[in-house]
Amino acid sequence: MSQSFVYQAQPARVIFGRGTSARLPDEADRLGLRRLLVLSTPQQTALATQVQQLLGERAAGAFAGATMHTPIEVTERALAVVKELGIDGVVSVGGGSTTGLGKAIALRTDLPQIVLPTTYAGSEMTPLLGETRDGVKTTQRSPKVLPEVVVYDVDLTLSLPLQMSALSAFNAIAHAVEALYAPDGNPIVSLMAEEGVRAIVDALPRMMREPGDATARADVLYGAWLCACCLGSVTMGLHHKLCHTLGGLFDLPHAQTHAIVLPHALAYNAPEIPVALTHLRRAFKTEDPVQALLQLERECGIPLALRDIGMPRDGVARAIEQAMANPYGNPRRIEAGALGQLLERAWAGEGV
Ligand code: NAD
Repeated sequence: MSQSFVYQAQPARVIFGRGTSARLPDEADRLGLRRLLVLSTPQQTALATQVQQLLGERAAGAFAGATMHTPIEVTERALAVVKELGIDGVVSVGGGSTTGLGKAIALRTDLPQIVLPTTYAGSEMTPLLGETRDGVKTTQRSPKVLPEVVVYDVDLTLSLPLQMSALSAFNAIAHAVEALYAPDGNPIVSLMAEEGVRAIVDALPRMMREPGDATARADVLYGAWLCACCLGSVTMGLHHKLCHTLGGLFDLPHAQTHAIVLPHALAYNAPEIPVALTHLRRAFKTEDPVQALLQLERECGIPLALRDIGMPRDGVARAIEQAMANPYGNPRRIEAGALGQLLERAWAGEGV
C-alpha cells in the first residue's frame, strides 16, 4: 500500500439490480422532478418510450438525437427542447453517447440527471465530458456534470448485442487497468479496480456462452460500475490518451479502439508497473495478465486490429506525431520508437 495518498470520493446515489427501472418514478419524486426530458439515441427510442410510460405524468417529452462524441449542435437542439417544454431534469437512457448529452445539458443548465446505463462504458460515474465542436473533441472535468442518480438495471443490458457487450466490457477494464498505475492512484481506487476487473473477467465467458444469462450480465455490469468509479476518480495514462488521439484523428469507434489498444498499452507499461501487475494477476488468476487479456479478447471474437476498424496504413506516423506533441503522465516514458512498434502491432492485429 502507498503510505501517502489523497482520496476524493465522488458523490453518487447508485441503485443496482434487476428490474430497478421500476424505481425511476420514486427517484424522480425524491428529487422533486415533475417535467423530465427522456434522452436517447435514435436506435433506442423504443426503450425511451417505455421509460416515458414508466414516468407517467412526470415525463414532459423525449429527445432521441443523442450521438457519438456529443456534438455541440445536438446539445443546442436538445437545449431548445429543454427551454420550450420547461424541463426540470433529464433522464438519460443508453450508453456513453446518451449520458454525454445529458451531461452537456447539465453543464449549461444545472438540471439534475438520472441515468439508466445500457452499456459498460461508465460515463455515468465520472465528472468528465467530451464534446465535439467543428470536428474537434475537447474533454473537460466538472462536478456539474455528475449525475444525481444512476439506476443500473441489468435487464436493460440484455439487449446489447453480444459483440458490443464484449467490446464495452473491455472498455470498462481499460479504466481499471489505468487506475492501477495512475499518478494520483490510492488504495481505495485500487480495490475497486481489482474487483471490477475480476468481476468482468470472471463473468465474460459466461456472458459469451449465454448472452441472456442475467447473472453473468449482472456481474459484468457490477464490474463495469466499479471500473467507471476508477475512471471518475484518477488520471488516465497512455492507453486512454492513445485511444483519444486515434478516435479523434481517424473517427474510430470508441469501444473497439479501447479493446484493441488495451493489451498493447498494458504490455508497453508492464516493465514499470509491478504493483499494478500484482493486482491484475489476482484479478485474472494468472501469472501473465497481458497474455490472458489478449486471449480473452480472442475468445470473445472481437476485432483485434486497428486496420479492421478503419485506421489507414499511414495513420501510424500521424498518431505518433500527435501523441508525442502532447506529452502526458505515464509510468513508462513515451518514446517514439517503442510507441511506433506498439501502434504497428495494434494496427496489424499482431500479438503482444
Ligand atoms: P454508445 O452510447 O454510442 O452506444 C452505441 C450504440 O449502441 C448506440 O446506437 C446505442 O443506442 C446502442 N445501444 C446502447 N445500449 C444498448 C442496448 N442495451 N441494447 C441495444 N442497443 C444499445 O456507446 P458507448 O460505448 O456506451 O459510449 C461511447 C461514447 O461515450 C463515446 O462518445 C465516449 O467518448 C463516451 N464516454 C464518455 C465517458 C466519460 O466519462 N465522459 C466514459 C466512457 C465513454
